[in-house]
Amino acid sequence: MKITVLGTGYLGATHAACMAELGHEVLGVDVDAGKVAALSEGKVPFHEPGLPAVLKRNVDAGRLRFTTSYAEAAEFGDVHFIAVGTPQRKGEFAADLTYVNAVVDSLVPHLTRDTVILGKSTVPVGTTDLLRARARVATTYAVEFAWNPEFLREGHAVADTLEPDRLVLGVEPGGRAEEVAREIYAPILERQTPFFVTDTATAELVKVSANAFLATKISFINAVAEVCEAAGADVVSLADAIGVDTRIGRRFLNAGVGFGGGCLPKDIRAFMARSGELGASHMHGLLREVDSINMGRRTRMVDVARDACGSLLGAKVAVLGCAFKPDSDDVRDSPALNIAGQMQLQGAAVSVYDPEAMDNSRRLFPTLDYATSALEACKGADAVLVLTEWREFRELEPDVVAGVTRGRTLIDGRNCMPREAWETAGWTYRT
Ligand code: NAD
Repeated sequence: MKITVLGTGYLGATHAACMAELGHEVLGVDVDAGKVAALSEGKVPFHEPGLPAVLKRNVDAGRLRFTTSYAEAAEFGDVHFIAVGTPQRKGEFAADLTYVNAVVDSLVPHLTRDTVILGKSTVPVGTTDLLRARARVATTYAVEFAWNPEFLREGHAVADTLEPDRLVLGVEPGGRAEEVAREIYAPILERQTPFFVTDTATAELVKVSANAFLATKISFINAVAEVCEAAGADVVSLADAIGVDTRIGRRFLNAGVGFGGGCLPKDIRAFMARSGELGASHMHGLLREVDSINMGRRTRMVDVARDACGSLLGAKVAVLGCAFKPDSDDVRDSPALNIAGQMQLQGAAVSVYDPEAMDNSRRLFPTLDYATSALEACKGADAVLVLTEWREFRELEPDVVAGVTRGRTLIDGRNCMPREAWETAGWTYRT
């Protein structure tokens, strides 16, 4: 099938490459000419393990191309995927649908035949109806919209796209989107992958509800961590003990500095705002608390660092990790950078290091001091904060780090470091 993917960021570039991998002819479209040029040469402009090989293989095979031209996209595609960003609106909690609207406005007037558009971006419930109305006034061709939310995790994007836990498709009654999706995803569906076909509102809500649940789980364990701290209990052992219950599960129960990234924070805020608009006050209230617990963890980490150093004014701190999670160079709403920035504002000299996210971090926070290695970041530090759980940091030798620091306090913002080894080596371990 001839497929276009409109927007080739983290989601779109991965989706385009993986659809080509399934054997389709794919055209990726982006307004960023630099990104289009890089992808056309088979280069992935962000860090995603495994994606460069899939992209290059399919570009070289001629199944995958990229363009900035919507006229070309309209002519080429039998089906179009929307994969542009839906960030938080400036100064509000709601999602900004500017880019999704722009895709429809750019594509639809160029259409030369009836078509199916499948949305993959994460959108507030009701968006498909709005886009359908938007398209109707822009063309005389029949444009069918269906929503096919994406659940990929950065760092596992290729496997999550080619072997997803499930596929979800929200359709209009009587349309052909389900048949089209079944053809596109045939190799995936052949493996008995669960396929949920719903109405569009349900499909839109499945995605934001999944993210809201995960965010709630993280904020839940962080709220428990606060009680543990007050009561002298150990939240890691507690999470291990409750997590073996299959109804609860151990994943997403790691207490620490909380969630960040390009999705969870803005998605729960958009869901909060949309729930409020719809008069669903409990979801609104719940997500407000989840967000507040999460942001409070960042402030608390700064307090712990201040306490460890006596004062942040004039202190030197090392921050290990900038990406919002390991195996990614994504620093959007990263707790690590946010904490580093807050400590710097309070007068600390902050030296940061991340194995993959240095360039993105430099662009976002140019005033931090960027080291070339974890050890260099730690040179002369009064305290060392581990804020992204990269394996490289977990494997640091306490004695070697002690050889370059001024103080001996390790602040483990992810509860990921081998505590005993650090304490045995004479370090004060804090979380
Ligand atoms: P991104 O910012 O990495 O990519 C968006 C891309 O869209 C950019 O390359 C941008 O240049 C391009 N773009 C903007 N306007 C355009 C237009 N009019 N036409 C064509 N391209 C345009 O964002 P992302 O992380 O890929 O997220 C995209 C969507 O997918 C969001 O709704 C997000 O919530 C959702 N999502 C993301 C992930 C993830 O892990 N990143 C996972 C699931 C869902």
